[in-house]
Amino acid sequence: MHHRVVTATPPPGYRAMVLRERGAALSLETRPASEPQTHQVLLRVAACAVCRTDLHVVDGELDRGTLPVVPGHQVVGRVIAAGPEAVLGVGDRVGVPWLGWTCGSCAMCRSGRENLCPHARFTGCDVDGGFAELVLADSRFCLRLPGGYEDVEAAPLLCAGLIGYRALRMAGEARRLGLYGFGSAAHIIIQMARHRGADVYAFTRAGDTDGQDFARQLGAVWAGDSTGPAPEPLDAAIIFAPAGELVPLALRALAPGGTVVCAGIHMSDIPSFPYALLWEERSVRSVANLTRADGTDFMEAVAASRVDVETEVLALADADRALELIRSGRARGTVVLVP
Ligand SMILES: [Zn+2]
Ligand SMILES: [Zn+2]
Repeated sequence: MHHRVVTATPPPGYRAMVLRERGAALSLETRPASEPQTHQVLLRVAACAVCRTDLHVVDGELDRGTLPVVPGHQVVGRVIAAGPEAVLGVGDRVGVPWLGWTCGSCAMCRSGRENLCPHARFTGCDVDGGFAELVLADSRFCLRLPGGYEDVEAAPLLCAGLIGYRALRMAGEARRLGLYGFGSAAHIIIQMARHRGADVYAFTRAGDTDGQDFARQLGAVWAGDSTGPAPEPLDAAIIFAPAGELVPLALRALAPGGTVVCAGIHMSDIPSFPYALLWEERSVRSVANLTRADGTDFMEAVAASRVDVETEVLALADADRALELIRSGRARGTVVLVP
């Protein structure tokens, strides 16, 4: 499908929260809108959920990214202008995920592993993201969103849901599944895991009784401190928290043959641990990014079985406060910015 460049309401400029210096506050700026090129679409942002990865981008904990940049990679928007080769048209509601572009020709891209493309560009890190009123995106990497989810509810599906889903798949057919860190991703993934019949054990920071109550409300069979032992041996554990010391703790909780999946993009160093924790075919692996196929599969799954997404909505100008909520672990569910 080809569409001519059409703009519903040509905006002269738009507001965006811009990261100019790592570790510094974001600055609210008004910038000129650009016309979408070739495969691009220009979206009016309806909602952008905030992810821990945004915090890592802002803090400079990732070994990549350009400056200045507009963070945000869980964007729900509507197309207001489309480039000549775009595969979307004006009015389409779509999501812009973390994977913003891949080369399509490297060994990874050609073997169905575009999540590992060395030339990939990530939204809100290498290219401007959704902490803004408008965003440009490559239409080939935008995801169609399921009906039945409002814009604010759909936004957290785009990373918390999607990368959590990839991690859940890597966890295999776990009957007993541990989730370490009960934030944005875990509150979605627990529902998908329960739907497939798993018993979920939620591990939080020591003393986080609010987080533990939240996990029990969402159906965890057990919730407790991550520093303590698991009540039953687990078939798999997914670590969403960026704390390396959780790796040996999670390994200790596993039954033989179990897997620890590290789902975050950044983690503090993993302390050394005795080989006995890895023995009996236990494994530790990471999950990196997403493929478009993951996106399509995941959106089908959440269309088929409804996920309740708990959100806390803040204004665009409050982006720094939103990041602080994630840093402190005080966010319940997902924080979403609405321009
Ligand atoms: Zn590639
Ligand atoms: Zn993310």
